[in-house]
Amino acid sequence: MITAEIMQRLKGIVGAEYVSTAQEVIVANSQDALKQVFCAEAVVFPRTAEEIAAIMRLANEEKFYVTVRGGGVGYTGGAVPIRGGIVLATARLNQILEINQADLVAIVEPAVTNYQLQQAVEAQGLFYPPDPSSWRESFIGGNIALNAGGPRCVKYGNTKQFVLGLDFVTPTGEIINAGGRVPKNATGFHLEHLLIGSEGMLGIVTRCILRLLPKPEARRTALAIFATAQDACNCVADFTSSGILPVALELLDRTSINAIEDFEPSGLPRQAGALLLIEVDGLRESVAREAEIVRAMCAKHGAIQFREAADDAEADEIWEVRRKMSPAVARTGKIKLNHDAVVPRSKIPVMLEFLEGLGKRSGFLIPTFGHAGDGNLHINVMLQDDEEDTRRRGAATVQEVFAKAVALGGTISGEHGVGYAKAPYFDLAVTPPTLELMKTIKRALDPNGVLNPGKVFEAALAAHQVGFINSNQPCC
Ligand SMILES: Cc1cc2nc3c(=O)[nH]c(=O)nc-3n(C[C@H](O)[C@H](O)[C@H](O)COP(=O)(O)OP(=O)(O)OC[C@H]3O[C@@H](n4cnc5c(N)ncnc54)[C@H](O)[C@@H]3O)c2cc1C
Repeated sequence: MITAEIMQRLKGIVGAEYVSTAQEVIVANSQDALKQVFCAEAVVFPRTAEEIAAIMRLANEEKFYVTVRGGGVGYTGGAVPIRGGIVLATARLNQILEINQADLVAIVEPAVTNYQLQQAVEAQGLFYPPDPSSWRESFIGGNIALNAGGPRCVKYGNTKQFVLGLDFVTPTGEIINAGGRVPKNATGFHLEHLLIGSEGMLGIVTRCILRLLPKPEARRTALAIFATAQDACNCVADFTSSGILPVALELLDRTSINAIEDFEPSGLPRQAGALLLIEVDGLRESVAREAEIVRAMCAKHGAIQFREAADDAEADEIWEVRRKMSPAVARTGKIKLNHDAVVPRSKIPVMLEFLEGLGKRSGFLIPTFGHAGDGNLHINVMLQDDEEDTRRRGAATVQEVFAKAVALGGTISGEHGVGYAKAPYFDLAVTPPTLELMKTIKRALDPNGVLNPGKVFEAALAAHQVGFINSNQPCC
């Protein structure tokens, strides 16, 4: 409970204008891309690590909950104050502090968006590969807390491969400087890695030291259409023997292709089994050679159509097909149970076959698309109504999806994290001792349990209560 006295003390820390209880501010900061609203009692906008440390000390003294917010476009409710308390919005920590070409390092505050960072480094001939599709809105702090990935991660890896150091505030209010600006560092525990994927539960990131690469000189993009999903999957699997590693290997199954054609016709054949979007990058000469290999691989696996972009504008047109996926899929039902299970790349055909059978058996449409190159599939179980029974059957279907992913050697999230949306399924993915160790770490850092409660291993909602709803939400 945030009392009047606590409000006064929060205002004393950050300034009265940066503590809000206005209805529209509360509602906007009490949901993420799942669009389920759980109201905060106040939203606080600190500017510095010192202010954040003071807020956390106060939270421990007065025992109120704090939920950290980045760009608020997570898909698992991680930034949602499901148990009330305050939202600590990081939006004002938004400065790019340094881009250093010689050291291949960028130092940024956590509320710099992925897009801003990419634009700024590319203007200096540099490159920051992690590219979540939410790059325009998502913050680097949120990307780190969820270990975000994107299409380019096949070749370059996801966010964790690009974090050299972090400053963060612990749940009890100490400021920690972990790692540094050097690419090699064997000096003690890698505490910065503890924060990567920590979902706002172990600390609040306030400064990020990121590794950069030289910007690739050229890229080539192609779209290949296959008669069967099996052909497309064989093509993906075979790339490992081709001698090249594409930057991106994205797959859309037949249901997804049809969802796009229903949403905005793009000339894709509705009968196709799957399509692959393939991109290569590097030096101009090597990219030309890699593009030949891509074409040969697609022909070898029986692509029925193959289109290579002649220039960047046409490449963007091809990517536009992929970008339509989320809105197109959302139109195919009332509730979207959107999950991002991951399986070893070689198991994608088995997973797709399983999903086709599951769709028939459950009666739910299950459009599937995603990052085939690293086995990370966006699997959407679409519910046509909001009845309790439908929701329960939907949750049981998701449970089957996750159980299969785990049985195949994969896990329940490749990039979206667990938050509260996947918490009911979390023990499918971790062994009891692993779970216990995570809880021990959480207790050690956050003895009063004030930071981001109700997430990951503490299921605040039952599985059937979770899901993106295509309708207006109740207000706070
Ligand atoms: C259309 C769409 C497409 C997407 N595509 C992708 C994709 O391709 N790849 C992908 O990985 N994800 C994707 N996402 C999911 C999501 O956008 C990303 O995971 C992104 O990293 C979330 O960042 P955010 O700043 O919005 O974080 P938020 O939603 O604000 O927060 C996410 C979590 O991070 C914590 N957090 C935020 N800031 C900090 C901080 N400074 N310190 C500590 N913890 C913090 C929060 O407490 C919360 O637990 C997509 C989402 C949408 C809506």
